[in-house]
Amino acid sequence: MALRNVIVIGSGPAGCTAAIYAARAGLEPLLVAGLLQGGQLTQSSGVENWPGAHHFPSGFELMESLLEHVRKFDVEILQDSVSTLTREDGVFSLHMAGGEVLTARSVIAATGSSARYLGIPGEDRFRGSGISACATCDGFFFRKKRVVVIGGGNTAVTDALYLAGLGAKTSLVHRRNEFRCEKILTDKLMSAADEGRISLHLSKVPLEFVGGESLEGVRIRDTVTGEESVLATDGVFEAVGHVPNTGYLEGLLELDRGYIPLAGDPEHATATAVPGLFAAGDVANARYQQAVVAAGSGCMAALDAEHYLSML
Ligand code: NAP
Repeated sequence: MALRNVIVIGSGPAGCTAAIYAARAGLEPLLVAGLLQGGQLTQSSGVENWPGAHHFPSGFELMESLLEHVRKFDVEILQDSVSTLTREDGVFSLHMAGGEVLTARSVIAATGSSARYLGIPGEDRFRGSGISACATCDGFFFRKKRVVVIGGGNTAVTDALYLAGLGAKTSLVHRRNEFRCEKILTDKLMSAADEGRISLHLSKVPLEFVGGESLEGVRIRDTVTGEESVLATDGVFEAVGHVPNTGYLEGLLELDRGYIPLAGDPEHATATAVPGLFAAGDVANARYQQAVVAAGSGCMAALDAEHYLSML
Protein backbone atom coordinates (compact mmCIF):
# COMPACT_ATOMS: atom_id res chain seq x y z
CA MET A 1 0.00 0.00 0.00
CA ALA A 2 1.17 3.54 -0.78
CA LEU A 3 3.24 5.49 1.72
CA ARG A 4 0.97 8.16 3.20
CA ASN A 5 1.95 11.64 4.34
CA VAL A 6 -0.13 11.37 7.46
CA ILE A 7 -2.41 8.86 9.08
CA VAL A 8 -4.76 10.03 11.81
CA ILE A 9 -5.70 7.36 14.33
CA GLY A 10 -9.02 7.98 16.07
CA SER A 11 -12.31 9.50 14.93
CA GLY A 12 -13.41 11.53 17.95
CA PRO A 13 -13.32 15.35 17.97
CA ALA A 14 -9.48 15.38 17.94
CA GLY A 15 -9.07 12.92 15.07
CA CYS A 16 -11.84 14.44 12.93
CA THR A 17 -10.49 17.96 13.35
CA ALA A 18 -6.95 16.79 12.56
CA ALA A 19 -8.25 15.06 9.41
CA ILE A 20 -10.12 18.18 8.26
CA TYR A 21 -7.05 20.39 8.69
CA ALA A 22 -4.67 17.85 7.13
CA ALA A 23 -6.99 17.42 4.14
CA ARG A 24 -7.29 21.16 3.63
CA ALA A 25 -3.47 21.36 3.72
CA GLY A 26 -3.37 18.92 0.79
CA LEU A 27 -1.82 16.10 2.83
CA GLU A 28 -4.44 13.55 1.73
CA PRO A 29 -4.73 11.98 5.19
CA LEU A 30 -6.16 8.57 5.95
CA LEU A 31 -8.38 8.42 9.02
CA VAL A 32 -8.35 5.17 10.97
CA ALA A 33 -11.73 5.39 12.64
CA GLY A 34 -11.52 2.53 15.13
CA LEU A 35 -14.43 0.24 15.79
CA LEU A 36 -16.55 2.92 17.49
CA GLN A 37 -16.68 5.52 14.72
CA GLY A 38 -16.99 8.96 16.30
CA GLY A 39 -15.36 7.89 19.57
CA GLN A 40 -16.72 8.00 23.08
CA LEU A 41 -18.58 11.29 22.58
CA THR A 42 -21.11 9.31 20.54
CA GLN A 43 -22.21 7.78 23.85
CA SER A 44 -22.97 11.10 25.53
CA SER A 45 -26.68 11.80 25.98
CA GLY A 46 -26.39 15.53 25.38
CA VAL A 47 -23.60 18.01 24.72
CA GLU A 48 -24.25 21.43 26.21
CA ASN A 49 -20.77 22.92 25.89
CA TRP A 50 -19.83 22.66 22.21
CA PRO A 51 -19.60 26.31 21.17
CA GLY A 52 -22.33 27.28 18.75
CA ALA A 53 -24.33 24.08 19.14
CA HIS A 54 -26.94 25.74 21.34
CA HIS A 55 -29.61 23.20 20.48
CA PHE A 56 -27.58 20.78 22.69
CA PRO A 57 -27.16 17.88 20.27
CA SER A 58 -26.64 14.33 21.44
CA GLY A 59 -23.01 13.20 21.26
CA PHE A 60 -23.99 10.89 18.41
CA GLU A 61 -25.56 13.73 16.42
CA LEU A 62 -22.55 15.99 17.00
CA MET A 63 -20.06 13.32 15.89
CA GLU A 64 -22.18 12.37 12.86
CA SER A 65 -21.98 15.98 11.76
CA LEU A 66 -18.21 16.13 12.40
CA LEU A 67 -17.68 12.93 10.40
CA GLU A 68 -19.83 14.36 7.58
CA HIS A 69 -17.54 17.40 7.64
CA VAL A 70 -14.52 15.06 7.30
CA ARG A 71 -16.14 13.26 4.35
CA LYS A 72 -16.73 16.62 2.60
CA PHE A 73 -12.94 16.82 2.16
CA ASP A 74 -12.77 13.34 0.60
CA VAL A 75 -10.80 11.90 3.51
CA GLU A 76 -10.45 8.14 3.22
CA ILE A 77 -11.89 6.57 6.36
CA LEU A 78 -10.87 3.07 7.40
CA GLN A 79 -13.06 1.20 9.90
CA ASP A 80 -10.33 -0.74 11.66
CA SER A 81 -8.04 -0.29 14.65
CA VAL A 82 -4.27 -0.25 15.06
CA SER A 83 -2.77 -3.14 17.03
CA THR A 84 0.88 -1.99 16.90
CA LEU A 85 2.64 1.13 15.71
CA THR A 86 6.34 0.91 14.82
CA ARG A 87 8.83 3.27 13.17
CA GLU A 88 11.87 2.38 11.13
CA ASP A 89 14.05 4.60 8.90
CA GLY A 90 11.61 7.49 9.34
CA VAL A 91 8.58 5.47 8.22
CA PHE A 92 5.73 4.41 10.50
CA SER A 93 4.09 1.02 10.07
CA LEU A 94 0.58 0.61 11.41
CA HIS A 95 -0.23 -3.04 11.96
CA MET A 96 -4.00 -3.20 11.79
CA ALA A 97 -6.26 -5.52 13.76
CA GLY A 98 -7.67 -6.65 10.40
CA GLY A 99 -4.21 -7.82 9.29
CA GLU A 100 -3.34 -4.97 6.90
CA VAL A 101 -0.12 -2.95 7.33
CA LEU A 102 -0.30 0.77 6.51
CA THR A 103 2.70 3.06 6.20
CA ALA A 104 3.07 6.80 6.72
CA ARG A 105 5.68 9.50 7.17
CA SER A 106 3.78 10.97 10.10
CA VAL A 107 1.05 9.87 12.48
CA ILE A 108 -1.44 11.76 14.60
CA ALA A 109 -2.50 9.66 17.60
CA ALA A 110 -5.99 10.73 18.68
CA THR A 111 -7.23 7.48 20.18
CA GLY A 112 -8.94 8.97 23.25
CA SER A 113 -9.83 6.86 26.23
CA SER A 114 -12.28 4.14 27.25
CA ALA A 115 -14.50 3.70 30.29
CA ARG A 116 -12.76 2.30 33.34
CA TYR A 117 -14.35 -0.46 35.41
CA LEU A 118 -14.01 -0.90 39.17
CA GLY A 119 -12.61 -4.43 39.12
CA ILE A 120 -14.50 -5.54 42.23
CA PRO A 121 -16.00 -8.99 42.89
CA GLY A 122 -19.13 -9.84 40.90
CA GLU A 123 -18.32 -7.38 38.14
CA ASP A 124 -17.17 -9.90 35.53
CA ARG A 125 -20.25 -12.00 36.17
CA PHE A 126 -22.80 -9.23 35.53
CA ARG A 127 -20.91 -7.03 33.06
CA GLY A 128 -23.12 -6.74 29.99
CA SER A 129 -26.09 -8.23 31.83
CA GLY A 130 -26.83 -5.67 34.52
CA ILE A 131 -23.57 -3.70 34.68
CA SER A 132 -22.80 -1.14 31.98
CA ALA A 133 -20.57 1.88 31.50
CA CYS A 134 -22.82 3.51 28.90
CA ALA A 135 -26.09 5.03 30.08
CA THR A 136 -27.08 6.25 26.61
CA CYS A 137 -26.53 2.78 25.13
CA ASP A 138 -28.26 0.73 27.84
CA GLY A 139 -30.38 3.13 29.88
CA PHE A 140 -33.45 2.44 27.79
CA PHE A 141 -33.66 -1.11 29.20
CA PHE A 142 -34.04 0.28 32.73
CA ARG A 143 -36.79 2.84 32.18
CA LYS A 144 -39.07 1.78 35.04
CA LYS A 145 -36.44 -0.12 36.99
CA ARG A 146 -33.97 0.60 39.78
CA VAL A 147 -30.51 1.74 38.72
CA VAL A 148 -27.37 2.67 40.61
CA VAL A 149 -24.82 5.03 39.08
CA ILE A 150 -21.34 4.88 40.59
CA GLY A 151 -19.01 7.90 40.51
CA GLY A 152 -18.98 11.61 41.23
CA GLY A 153 -17.62 13.23 38.06
CA ASN A 154 -19.24 14.80 35.00
CA THR A 155 -20.08 11.41 33.50
CA ALA A 156 -21.70 10.00 36.66
CA VAL A 157 -23.86 13.04 37.30
CA THR A 158 -24.87 13.39 33.62
CA ASP A 159 -25.74 9.68 33.55
CA ALA A 160 -27.78 9.87 36.77
CA LEU A 161 -29.77 12.84 35.43
CA TYR A 162 -30.28 11.09 32.10
CA LEU A 163 -31.48 7.84 33.71
CA ALA A 164 -33.81 9.68 36.09
CA GLY A 165 -35.15 11.52 33.03
CA LEU A 166 -35.92 8.15 31.42
CA GLY A 167 -38.03 7.27 34.45
CA ALA A 168 -35.55 4.92 36.15
CA LYS A 169 -35.55 4.85 39.96
CA THR A 170 -32.05 6.25 40.21
CA SER A 171 -29.49 6.14 43.03
CA LEU A 172 -26.06 7.73 42.88
CA VAL A 173 -23.24 6.15 44.89
CA HIS A 174 -20.14 8.28 45.37
CA ARG A 175 -17.12 7.57 47.56
CA ARG A 176 -16.82 11.16 48.80
CA ASN A 177 -19.34 13.80 49.82
CA GLU A 178 -18.18 16.30 47.18
CA PHE A 179 -18.53 16.05 43.42
CA ARG A 180 -15.86 16.78 40.88
CA CYS A 181 -18.29 17.79 38.13
CA GLU A 182 -19.22 21.21 36.74
CA LYS A 183 -21.27 23.38 39.10
CA ILE A 184 -24.22 23.50 36.70
CA LEU A 185 -24.42 19.70 36.96
CA THR A 186 -24.14 19.66 40.76
CA ASP A 187 -26.99 22.18 40.88
CA LYS A 188 -29.16 20.01 38.61
CA LEU A 189 -28.31 16.94 40.68
CA MET A 190 -29.21 18.63 43.94
CA SER A 191 -32.54 19.79 42.50
CA ALA A 192 -33.28 16.24 41.32
CA ALA A 193 -32.36 14.89 44.77
CA ASP A 194 -34.57 17.50 46.48
CA GLU A 195 -37.47 16.50 44.22
CA GLY A 196 -36.90 12.82 45.07
CA ARG A 197 -35.96 11.86 41.50
CA ILE A 198 -32.43 10.76 42.47
CA SER A 199 -31.37 9.32 45.79
CA LEU A 200 -27.83 10.17 46.90
CA HIS A 201 -25.56 7.73 48.73
CA LEU A 202 -22.48 9.76 49.56
CA SER A 203 -19.26 8.63 51.28
CA LYS A 204 -20.01 5.08 50.18
CA VAL A 205 -17.45 2.76 48.59
CA PRO A 206 -18.71 -0.03 46.32
CA LEU A 207 -17.35 -3.40 47.51
CA GLU A 208 -19.02 -6.04 45.34
CA PHE A 209 -21.94 -6.79 43.06
CA VAL A 210 -24.32 -9.43 44.35
CA GLY A 211 -27.04 -11.54 42.80
CA GLY A 212 -28.08 -14.98 41.65
CA GLU A 213 -29.14 -15.51 38.04
CA SER A 214 -29.16 -11.75 37.61
CA LEU A 215 -27.76 -8.71 39.37
CA GLU A 216 -29.60 -7.90 42.59
CA GLY A 217 -27.54 -5.27 44.36
CA VAL A 218 -24.31 -3.49 45.22
CA ARG A 219 -22.63 -4.00 48.57
CA ILE A 220 -21.37 -0.64 49.80
CA ARG A 221 -19.42 0.55 52.84
CA ASP A 222 -19.90 3.88 54.57
CA THR A 223 -16.45 5.52 54.72
CA VAL A 224 -17.35 7.34 57.96
CA THR A 225 -19.06 4.64 60.03
CA GLY A 226 -17.59 1.57 58.31
CA GLU A 227 -21.09 0.12 58.14
CA GLU A 228 -21.85 -2.18 55.20
CA SER A 229 -25.18 -2.54 53.43
CA VAL A 230 -26.60 -3.83 50.16
CA LEU A 231 -28.29 -1.35 47.86
CA ALA A 232 -30.86 -3.32 45.85
CA THR A 233 -30.88 -2.61 42.12
CA ASP A 234 -31.68 -4.00 38.69
CA GLY A 235 -28.84 -2.26 36.92
CA VAL A 236 -25.54 -0.51 37.58
CA PHE A 237 -23.88 2.18 35.50
CA GLU A 238 -20.22 2.62 36.33
CA ALA A 239 -18.83 6.10 35.68
CA VAL A 240 -15.51 5.94 37.47
CA GLY A 241 -13.24 7.58 34.92
CA HIS A 242 -11.42 6.54 31.81
CA VAL A 243 -8.20 4.85 30.72
CA PRO A 244 -6.26 6.14 27.72
CA ASN A 245 -6.22 3.92 24.62
CA THR A 246 -2.49 3.54 24.08
CA GLY A 247 -1.80 -0.22 24.04
CA TYR A 248 -0.68 -0.02 20.38
CA LEU A 249 2.18 2.31 21.36
CA GLU A 250 3.94 -0.13 23.63
CA GLY A 251 7.59 -0.37 22.68
CA LEU A 252 7.50 2.82 20.61
CA LEU A 253 7.59 5.39 23.40
CA GLU A 254 7.42 5.58 27.17
CA LEU A 255 3.93 6.45 28.41
CA ASP A 256 3.02 8.51 31.44
CA ARG A 257 0.40 6.62 33.50
CA GLY A 258 -0.90 5.33 30.16
CA TYR A 259 -1.11 8.80 28.54
CA ILE A 260 1.13 9.94 25.67
CA PRO A 261 3.63 12.48 27.03
CA LEU A 262 4.13 15.52 24.85
CA ALA A 263 7.73 16.58 24.23
CA GLY A 264 7.21 20.11 25.56
CA ASP A 265 8.28 21.83 22.33
CA PRO A 266 6.66 25.29 22.57
CA GLU A 267 6.71 25.68 18.76
CA HIS A 268 5.04 22.31 18.14
CA ALA A 269 2.95 21.58 21.18
CA THR A 270 1.58 18.22 19.99
CA ALA A 271 5.00 16.72 19.18
CA THR A 272 6.01 13.60 21.09
CA ALA A 273 9.45 12.15 21.76
CA VAL A 274 9.14 10.19 18.48
CA PRO A 275 9.83 12.35 15.41
CA GLY A 276 6.75 12.51 13.19
CA LEU A 277 4.37 11.24 15.90
CA PHE A 278 1.92 13.84 17.16
CA ALA A 279 -0.75 13.36 19.80
CA ALA A 280 -4.10 15.10 20.28
CA GLY A 281 -7.13 14.90 22.53
CA ASP A 282 -7.75 12.91 25.70
CA VAL A 283 -5.01 10.39 24.90
CA ALA A 284 -2.40 13.06 25.57
CA ASN A 285 -4.24 15.12 28.13
CA ALA A 286 -5.15 13.88 31.56
CA ARG A 287 -6.18 17.37 32.66
CA TYR A 288 -8.52 19.02 30.13
CA GLN A 289 -10.65 16.12 28.92
CA GLN A 290 -13.12 18.20 26.99
CA ALA A 291 -14.37 17.69 23.44
CA VAL A 292 -13.63 21.28 22.46
CA VAL A 293 -10.04 21.02 23.77
CA ALA A 294 -9.62 17.74 21.88
CA ALA A 295 -10.80 19.41 18.67
CA GLY A 296 -8.40 22.33 19.21
CA SER A 297 -5.46 20.02 19.80
CA GLY A 298 -6.43 18.02 16.69
CA CYS A 299 -6.03 21.22 14.69
CA MET A 300 -2.65 21.85 16.33
CA ALA A 301 -1.49 18.30 15.56
CA ALA A 302 -2.36 18.70 11.86
CA LEU A 303 -0.44 21.98 11.70
CA ASP A 304 2.52 20.37 13.48
CA ALA A 305 2.47 17.36 11.13
CA GLU A 306 2.29 19.69 8.11
CA HIS A 307 5.37 21.57 9.36
CA TYR A 308 7.23 18.30 10.08
CA LEU A 309 6.52 16.98 6.57
CA SER A 310 7.63 20.25 4.97
CA MET A 311 11.03 19.86 6.66
CA LEU A 312 11.72 16.33 5.33
P1 NAP B 1 -13.68 11.58 36.43
O1 NAP B 1 -13.87 13.02 36.35
O2 NAP B 1 -12.30 11.03 36.54
O3 NAP B 1 -14.57 11.03 37.65
C1 NAP B 1 -14.51 9.69 38.06
C2 NAP B 1 -15.33 9.54 39.31
O4 NAP B 1 -15.28 8.18 39.69
C3 NAP B 1 -14.81 10.38 40.47
O5 NAP B 1 -15.86 10.98 41.14
C4 NAP B 1 -14.10 9.35 41.34
O6 NAP B 1 -14.19 9.63 42.70
C5 NAP B 1 -14.89 8.10 41.06
N1 NAP B 1 -14.05 6.90 41.24
C6 NAP B 1 -12.87 6.62 40.64
N2 NAP B 1 -12.38 5.44 41.07
C7 NAP B 1 -13.29 4.96 41.95
C8 NAP B 1 -13.35 3.79 42.74
N3 NAP B 1 -12.40 2.85 42.69
N4 NAP B 1 -14.42 3.63 43.54
C9 NAP B 1 -15.40 4.55 43.59
N5 NAP B 1 -15.40 5.68 42.88
C10 NAP B 1 -14.36 5.88 42.05
O7 NAP B 1 -14.30 10.78 35.18
P2 NAP B 1 -15.50 11.22 34.20
O8 NAP B 1 -16.65 11.74 34.93
O9 NAP B 1 -15.70 10.06 33.29
O10 NAP B 1 -14.84 12.36 33.36
C11 NAP B 1 -13.60 12.13 32.65
C12 NAP B 1 -13.17 13.43 32.02
O11 NAP B 1 -14.09 13.76 30.98
C13 NAP B 1 -13.18 14.60 33.01
O12 NAP B 1 -12.11 15.44 32.72
C14 NAP B 1 -14.50 15.25 32.73
O13 NAP B 1 -14.50 16.61 33.05
C15 NAP B 1 -14.66 15.02 31.23
N6 NAP B 1 -16.09 15.00 30.88
C16 NAP B 1 -16.65 16.18 30.58
C17 NAP B 1 -17.99 16.25 30.30
C18 NAP B 1 -18.60 17.58 29.97
O14 NAP B 1 -19.70 17.67 29.57
N7 NAP B 1 -17.91 18.66 30.17
C19 NAP B 1 -18.77 15.11 30.33
C20 NAP B 1 -18.18 13.90 30.67
C21 NAP B 1 -16.83 13.87 30.95
P3 NAP B 1 -13.39 10.89 43.38
O15 NAP B 1 -14.15 12.10 42.95
O16 NAP B 1 -13.47 10.61 44.82
O17 NAP B 1 -12.01 10.80 42.81
